[in-house]
Amino acid sequence: MGKITGFTEFDREKVPWRLPVVRINDYDEIYTEHKTEHLRDQGARCMDCGVPFCQSASGCPIDNLIPEWNDLVYNNRWKEAIERLHKTNNFPEFTGRTCPAPCEGACVLGITSPPVTIKNIENAIVDRAWEEGWIKPEPPESRTGKKVAIVGSGPSGLSAADQLNKVGHLVTVFERADRPGGLLQYGIPNMKLSKDVLQRRVDKLTAEGVEFRTSVNVGKDITTDELRDQYDAVLLACGATKPRDLPIEGREAQGVHYAMEFLTANTKQSVHGDELGDQFISAEGKDVIVIGGGDTGTDCIGTSIRHGCRSLVNFELLPKPAEDRAPDNPWPEWPRVFRVDYGHEEAEAKFGKDPREYQILSKKFLVDDAGKLAGIQTVEVQWTKNDEGGWQMSEVEGSEKDWPAQLILLAMGFLGPEQYVPESLGVETDARSNFQAEYGKFATSVEGVFAAGDCRRGQSLVVWAINEGRGAARAVDVFLQGSSCLPAPGITLGTSLAGV
Ligand SMILES: Cc1cc2nc3c(=O)[nH]c(=O)nc-3n(C[C@H](O)[C@H](O)[C@H](O)COP(=O)(O)OP(=O)(O)OC[C@H]3O[C@@H](n4cnc5c(N)ncnc54)[C@H](O)[C@@H]3O)c2cc1C
Ligand code: SF4
Repeated sequence: MGKITGFTEFDREKVPWRLPVVRINDYDEIYTEHKTEHLRDQGARCMDCGVPFCQSASGCPIDNLIPEWNDLVYNNRWKEAIERLHKTNNFPEFTGRTCPAPCEGACVLGITSPPVTIKNIENAIVDRAWEEGWIKPEPPESRTGKKVAIVGSGPSGLSAADQLNKVGHLVTVFERADRPGGLLQYGIPNMKLSKDVLQRRVDKLTAEGVEFRTSVNVGKDITTDELRDQYDAVLLACGATKPRDLPIEGREAQGVHYAMEFLTANTKQSVHGDELGDQFISAEGKDVIVIGGGDTGTDCIGTSIRHGCRSLVNFELLPKPAEDRAPDNPWPEWPRVFRVDYGHEEAEAKFGKDPREYQILSKKFLVDDAGKLAGIQTVEVQWTKNDEGGWQMSEVEGSEKDWPAQLILLAMGFLGPEQYVPESLGVETDARSNFQAEYGKFATSVEGVFAAGDCRRGQSLVVWAINEGRGAARAVDVFLQGSSCLPAPGITLGTSLAGV
């Protein structure tokens, strides 16, 4: 523990984001520079708890050694800090930028005071390590001669590739999109995770011997039989990419899109400079409605504002969360409280109010004579408990309302993975259509075929995808070699994260 009295001396102070009125004019990252002195003070707040809840229980899903690197930052030992961080996390710059930080929700200091700024410290350690040149390609010294195919290049596929390559297997990552990264590339926008930051890791993996084959759709461009013939093991890391639809009247109107269509096209054209023509979905000058919250909804809000939308509303079906933890949501559980994310802040700066409207149910899309979207009709709902204690929703009579809209984005979550890959391999799926493979073993019903990440657990978080990729890599290594020196996945099976 760096400074015994640190938590009594320093207040929690997050590294600020750039000002909303400035950052909405570009797609650069929202973050400002880390300042060493500031981070030392924040690291000094860590109490080095005997039982560090931040790195276990409902805290960090990859068991990051948080108190250790808090102390190293306080003591200005940054190189050792990145070495500790890389022991549990292949890509701290991805989690440092995108993670909702369950570690902070579980931090012991949070019982009485604001928690340690763990996420900022993680991000600062890895950014500094890249700046100093401490992170360099380190190809394995020898090869095992075994070949592994990974289907999908999201965080689970990338972390598995990194781990398997380290122990000498020859890894090929197949990706049907034109660029690698999964949702790190074409879901999470540049302002939250720069595509240069992603590419830097892909380049490092390539230099270390991992092969990336983009624009190859496994099950279509290459059969799963070919894959099984050519590789000693296959890891499915295909994500949960089937979006939830809103099949109400008028759904066919021109102007209703899935969030992912909008976000993908935006990254391609606005960030990478691809010319998409009619495929680009512009929010410029339009009244935009985003249906659904969470990260996807926020990203649609932030992107629409950067396009120059005329107005912006975000519908949520559930009531507004409480400002503080409810009695049935105690520490160290993930706090289910009201949050203001970057997109909400930006909407407030541009339009003078938070864009979220709660307890709104969409009834029908309004369509003009030319088949174009003109708006949406909604009704307010209320939530009450039934006799069994379950929540039930009912419509509020007379609360119907028409909202003008020329662009509506559906951000209502995902229903699970697409089925053509498991079907052609004969891999069994579970009741929620995820690929069936027990957590910890990651083996599917087909010998030599493994599954990890969102395609196994359902839509989740980057940090869980990394956890699963690391765990599946170990399982594949054991399958190929009989034993493994790779670490087992984290033991933190915290179900409280399910809704994070
Ligand atoms: C808009 C959005 C924003 C998000 N923001 C956050 C956030 O801020 N923080 C956070 O923690 N989580 C966030 N998430 C969730 C997070 O991105 C996912 O949980 C995570 O990326 C899952 O990783 P994965 O590797 O399992 O799958 P994915 O990242 O989905 O990657 C799967 C990849 O497999 C490829 N693929 C699928 N089938 C095939 C095939 N047959 N052949 C070849 N390739 C194939 C897909 O093209 C895709 O690239 C967000 C999700 C979305 C949609
Ligand atoms: S729980 Fe909080 S105070 Fe305790 S070791 Fe972890 S970061 Fe430090």
